[in-house]
Amino acid sequence: IRAVKEGKTDVLVPVHEEGVSFPPSAAPVFYNPAMELNRDISVAATSVFAEKLSERRNIAIEDIRYLDALSASGIRGLRIANEVGVHTTLNDWSENAFELIVRNIRHLGLQERVDATHKNANVLMHEKRFNIVDIDPFGTPAPFLAAAARCAVHLLAVTATDTAPLCGAHLHSGIRKYSAVPFNNEYHAEMGVRILLGKVARELAITDKFMVPLLSHATRHYVRTYLEIGNGAKKADEMLEHIGFILHCTPCGFRQILPGMAVNIASGCPRCSSEALIAGPLWLGKLHDIGFCGDVLKELERTEPGTKEQAKRIIGLCMDELEMPTFYEQHLICKRLGVSASGINDLINTLKSRGFAASRTHFSGTSFKTDAGIDEIENIIMMLR
Ligand code: SAM
Repeated sequence: IRAVKEGKTDVLVPVHEEGVSFPPSAAPVFYNPAMELNRDISVAATSVFAEKLSERRNIAIEDIRYLDALSASGIRGLRIANEVGVHTTLNDWSENAFELIVRNIRHLGLQERVDATHKNANVLMHEKRFNIVDIDPFGTPAPFLAAAARCAVHLLAVTATDTAPLCGAHLHSGIRKYSAVPFNNEYHAEMGVRILLGKVARELAITDKFMVPLLSHATRHYVRTYLEIGNGAKKADEMLEHIGFILHCTPCGFRQILPGMAVNIASGCPRCSSEALIAGPLWLGKLHDIGFCGDVLKELERTEPGTKEQAKRIIGLCMDELEMPTFYEQHLICKRLGVSASGINDLINTLKSRGFAASRTHFSGTSFKTDAGIDEIENIIMMLR
């Protein structure tokens, strides 16, 4: 056990005797230093949300109740308690993790503000309600989503590290966990986010709850999303209008967005008549709230160096990307056309000069989002070559 400092918080974590971190899955208590970026963004996003909730509902920050349902060492929730100041519950069913959590609470002198529980997270989430619920599991969050959707009153934050099932690389596993069919194509990273959000939306709708995505990103090998939660059958029905399907033609790159839970989809590509693929049901709505992202950027300015620059870059790209499902991979289109790629910014500027909306995307450095169709995109790429 050794103390590491993340943000403004010193936390005890398991390390080898030489001081080297364990591979996360082999440690007696899980700790992954590579997830500091995820935690840095979590602290900033939770802080912004807690401030807003405190103002809107006239609740003191220390009366906002936050649950880190799968805590391991507790590092995520301890940082939230220490750096945001909300009342925090840290939970883990592992004996070793629970002991380390208790030790960490004493180590930081946070006994007043932090509770430790030693339960199955699903039991705890069905028993109690929290203003903010954070689910950060090994692999898939799917087994926790039903309970988390009931437990979270105002904000639900979810990490998924099972990108292979979510993004269609392990197709059948993805179908089993998310009751949806993903694509493993050039926009698979975005597919993962939308499949996860689609599943959470359907879980929330069961109890007449709805979500508004505040920030969602796919970074390295995980997906992370922050969802504002509300109550009401009518709003839940409106939320479900953002669920639907995507038709995609691999040979020609054509795609079509098909909103609705029960839609009539012809399987032929309307452009080239090839057999098209269909993904869904998935989330077709917005992934971010620009105002919230802007506040998170400002909050990150005030934080310790840590992963600040990387975090700012991700949030900045999320804010600038067009809110529409799917993106185009420039090199894939160029390969199909047998031409070399121009600079991505030239392509985006040309699309804009022709009256189309266009932007980069945080999902991929060589890709762009646009409301132009594949015919117009191909014409512009041919002109720019
Ligand atoms: N949030 C931590 C962080 O930022 O370092 C990492 C959490 S780790 C990936 C997942 C933890 O969930 C493990 O410590 C494991 O013991 C715990 N866990 C898995 N299933 C659980 C369950 N059903 N109830 C409670 N804890 C569980």
